[in-house]
Amino acid sequence: MYPQAVANVPEDVGVQQRREAARAFRESMRERLMDGAGSALSWIIIDPTTRASQRATATLQACADGVDRIWGAVLPDEHDTGRRGRSELLIRDRERGGYIPVIVVNHKVTDPGSGAVTSGLDTWAPAVDETRKVRAQLRDQFRLAQIHRMLERHGHASPSNQGGAIGYGGECILVHDLGAVMEQYDARFADRVAVARGEVATVPSQVGECRSCPWWPDCKAALTEARDVSLVATGSRAEVLRGAGVHTIDALAGWEGPAPEDWQGNGFADTVIVARAWLTGVPLVRRTEEVTVTRADVEVDVDMESYQEHGAYLWGTLLTESGVTQPYRPFVTWDPLPTVDEARSFAEFWGWLTATLESTLAQGKTFAAYCYSRAAEDKWLLDSATRFAGLPGIPTVSQVRTFIDGPHWVDVYQAVSDQFICPNGKGLKKIAPVAGFAWRDAEASGEASMSWYREAVGYDGEPDLSQRERLFVYNEDDVRATKVLREWMTDRAEAEIPHMSEL
Ligand code: SF4
Repeated sequence: MYPQAVANVPEDVGVQQRREAARAFRESMRERLMDGAGSALSWIIIDPTTRASQRATATLQACADGVDRIWGAVLPDEHDTGRRGRSELLIRDRERGGYIPVIVVNHKVTDPGSGAVTSGLDTWAPAVDETRKVRAQLRDQFRLAQIHRMLERHGHASPSNQGGAIGYGGECILVHDLGAVMEQYDARFADRVAVARGEVATVPSQVGECRSCPWWPDCKAALTEARDVSLVATGSRAEVLRGAGVHTIDALAGWEGPAPEDWQGNGFADTVIVARAWLTGVPLVRRTEEVTVTRADVEVDVDMESYQEHGAYLWGTLLTESGVTQPYRPFVTWDPLPTVDEARSFAEFWGWLTATLESTLAQGKTFAAYCYSRAAEDKWLLDSATRFAGLPGIPTVSQVRTFIDGPHWVDVYQAVSDQFICPNGKGLKKIAPVAGFAWRDAEASGEASMSWYREAVGYDGEPDLSQRERLFVYNEDDVRATKVLREWMTDRAEAEIPHMSEL
């Protein structure tokens, strides 16, 4: 409603990269689909360089002509309903007539399991898939439902009420039964249109999307002024609290007794503490009397950098023995991912880590390797062992599994979660500053590191060596932050951070 307010807001680099990666994936899928189609199917590619209205005319003409596969389909904008719709692919329903929309998305649409309905890429033949289960993506279903409604308007929707999504990996088409979501889509669409037309009054309330919304500074100021409860209980939790008569942080902080009836899951008591912390400006609250974290004679802090799903290009380490810290040691490949050179750098990292572990234990000393939030490191340790199995120095999956399930691999994030309530979030960038750590690069973030990586390896031109240096600094600061944080937990946290009973 206020486009001028965001007209000059630069687009987030992470959004740019995701858009570029999605465009490249769509293009690769188009080539893959056309290569596999064979001569039995007729194809048309709607010219993407023409105006949207021309593409819409060409799409409807192709539908009227009964073309089997229409790539780059655009439906005419509906000025009365407000709908716009594009589908990477329209597949002609040869049995029942009409078209089935298929979108190409750059996220996963299935997981290993069973029960999903999928179709091969080259022949539309939906069948229950014993190797995949559906990964719920309501946004994909709504997008398909919208295209289906637009096809209906022109008499080109398949009566099957089916739609398809080709997700990351591009191995098959996940088939959605749109009939199951049509009612929900229609209700949501009517609601959104009413908001956009100003027929329904709206006020801000913090939700997950606020993180990347250009209006956040204004909304945050309004919410702070109102001391709105969504500042400490986002999304649907704020709705539940309002339903229970709690509109402000002050009211939540004064709550006594059990959680409201509609509250989902655990965490209500923590939310009350977060409200009290907000009122007193406390950045962290202790759950436990004592704060502990595993310590050892030889300690290695580890942080890994990956690029999308292409691989893990950097394993940064910091070794501390008896209080003396060695220089930062990175294991890296600067060959653009995906590259088999990643196997070389991963093998060097693994070899060094396990040799350090074994020699430490052989001397009768204790050893611990630390990361902050193990999910990504665990994933890439296991994934690298799988992808590079048999290459020199690559451990087996079971060797990796033994290490990550064993006592020498310590997740500092878990130690933080167990012992603190974190009003501002549990990310390393939020917690380590409480321990006194500051990153050297003010722009450091996971999203920013993605674009630095592209420049560092030269995806879009000549490699920029200064960006390699920047990534080393960023990664080194992450491992140093982990070290500072765990040492602070041992030495000072108890004295500096109030216990929840004190709020
Ligand atoms: S910042 Fe949040 S509440 Fe404000 S407009 Fe954006 S998404 Fe809505």
